[in-house]
Parts: sequence; C-alpha cells; structure tokens
Amino acid sequence: GQCRAVCPTAAIIIKNDNGKVWEVVHDKSKRVIAQIAPAVRVALGEEFGLEPGQVTIGKIVAALKKIGVDEVYDTAFSADMTVIEESKEFLERFETGEKLPLFTSCCPGWVKFAENKYPDMVDNISTCKSPQQMFGAVIKEYYKEKDKDENKGTILISVMPCTAKKAEAAREEFEHNGVRDVDIVITTQELALLIKEAGINFEQLEEESFDMPFGLASGSGIIFGATGGVAEAVVTRLLKNKPDHNTKDLLFSNVRGMDNIKEASFNLDGKEIKIAVVHGLNNADELIKQIKSGKRYYDFIEVMACPGGCIAGGGQPIPMNLETRKGRAKGLYRLDRISHIKSSDTNPLVMSLFEGILKDNHELLHVHKKMEVES
Ligand code: SF4
Repeated sequence: GQCRAVCPTAAIIIKNDNGKVWEVVHDKSKRVIAQIAPAVRVALGEEFGLEPGQVTIGKIVAALKKIGVDEVYDTAFSADMTVIEESKEFLERFETGEKLPLFTSCCPGWVKFAENKYPDMVDNISTCKSPQQMFGAVIKEYYKEKDKDENKGTILISVMPCTAKKAEAAREEFEHNGVRDVDIVITTQELALLIKEAGINFEQLEEESFDMPFGLASGSGIIFGATGGVAEAVVTRLLKNKPDHNTKDLLFSNVRGMDNIKEASFNLDGKEIKIAVVHGLNNADELIKQIKSGKRYYDFIEVMACPGGCIAGGGQPIPMNLETRKGRAKGLYRLDRISHIKSSDTNPLVMSLFEGILKDNHELLHVHKKMEVES
C-alpha cells in the first residue's frame, strides 16, 4: 500500500485495530485491499453529522483510498455468492428433507451461540461461509499467483458493523497454509476514527466508485445488512419469475420490519416453503425452544444476533434506537430499489466467477469444521 495521508498514529488512545491498518498501508510489499459490509454505508455518516440511512459509500471508498488502501470492494458482492451457495444447499436439503430447518450462517454471534447452547443443531447451520469470509477466501485465491510473481503479500481489511466479525476472522478454520482469509477487521466506529486520524475532511470528500471486478453487487446482496434481508435474497434467487419492486414490497412485507419473530411462506414449484426470521438471541432462543417442542415448523430460518440485524451491530455509531434502526434499514432497501441488479443470480460478475476460479474450487466457499465449543 501507499499512504497518501498524514497519519498521527501516536494520537490513538482507544484500543482498536487502526494501528494495524496504518502499518500495512505503509508497507510497500503489501497489496492492501478493503471490503465494506452493507450495513456500514448507511451508518458511518452519523459520525459526521448525517441522518441514519444516508448512504455515504462513495465517500467511504474515497477515504480508504486516501488512507492508502489499494483496492476497495463490496462485501455485498460476496453476499451474492452466499445467496447462490445457500439457496443451492437449501434446495438439496428441501428435496431430501434432511437437516431442516436450514439456519443461516452469516452472523458469527448466532453461530457461536448455537455452538455453545445448541450443539445438536450445528449441523442445521448452513455450511456456507459468511460473506466476509467468502470474500477473503476468493480474494486470496484470486491474487495467489500474481502475489508470487510480484513478490507481494495481499492483506485484506474488512470494515464491519460488529466486533463479532473480528472473532470470526480469527477462527482457526479460516486459515489455510498460514494464509488468513481476512487479516484485519475494523468496525464502522473504528473507520470513523481512522478517517479523523488521517485528517480527512469527510464532508468535502469527492465520491468514488468501488473497484472492479468485486465491486458490483445486486440489491439482494445489499439488504443482507437488515433483518429479513438474507431470507428475502434467498427467496428472490429461488423464484423463477423475478418480482418487480412493487410485487417485492408486497411479497416480502412479512419478512421486513422490526417484529421479533417474523414468518412467511412461499410457493416454489407447487411446494410450500416455510420461513422464519429472528433477530436478537433471546428471540432465537425462544424460537428454537418452540421448534424443539414441536410447536412450530420451518424449512429455512434466518438468525441475526443483533436486534434489527447488522445495521444495529455493536460496532456501529451510537446512539442506537428504533428510529436509527428504521432509518438505516430504509437506506438499504432504497439501495435495493435503485439497483440495476435485483437478484444474486443475475449478477454477471458473480456468475462469471463461478465459471472461472470457483469452478473447481467450490470448497473455498464452505466450512465444515466448526470450532470447538468454548465454555
Ligand atoms: Fe455482527 Fe450483529 Fe450482524 Fe451478527 S447481526 S454479524 S453480531 S452485526
């Protein structure tokens, strides 16, 4: 990386991972790449006086470039990959009736909760890596040869809404031959601090676009950041006739919003699939108890540890209340509405990746070994 800004690292008082970022952007032997989670773009602006839900992604990209990051990409891109893999896995299980319900795997807070409290249900969690980890696995594979040729090392920085993503990136199963899928994770709050440390005037930054080819995401990949978003993305991918905006609003009205436990059913080739969406681990716990007691049945369940989903993650700006959550979610659904690509399987760059480096390398996107249960 090449640092194009003055960085007074000595001024850091709070314990965070920004020091690691400053270190790599100054190291010329590194190719420094960043990925930005969907939820970050509708919240970071609050640290600079904007309203919740205001989208500042163009400025975030510009700020990271000024700080010295070489390439900036969208985690919503790998969320599209997650949707494709997870819906495939769902269909396989739905046909055989095995290991249902299928639980989503993208929230490490939920995965850890399940490992500790419901180890008998871990097999029901999707084998798909989360979008953060899929991105890491793909980027490291993508630059493997080039790094060797250029005698460089690729470093991946994730900008995420929560500290649980730091713990996820550090799990042992996400390291291969000494190479970590994700090297550094900073939260939205840490990014705001990083921008201030760099002396960047955020308000006056000229917006920039993501780099390609990992910078183009569907609206489905973007709504991952709000409760209900993953379920909506997976169903949208499964539907043969893709719904337009207004049909989508109606079809998914039950999975959107802030109700504790949401349910919906969809008709897929004449078969009914039953879906539940929960956010907040208390609600997940309650739902699992009801499933175990036979009171409820579902085929697919989305679980997010944070009430509201990632838009309300612990690394997001504060204060966090119902209004902030609603504002941020609205920002994400707005991005879906204005996106040219609605469904993950119509993202041409994702599909060409599946034809390219992922063709014989599907295992890059899955994880089978769960970490030992911690007490
Ligand atoms: Fe992190 Fe919360 Fe999102 Fe889970 S729901 S990934 S804990 S921000």
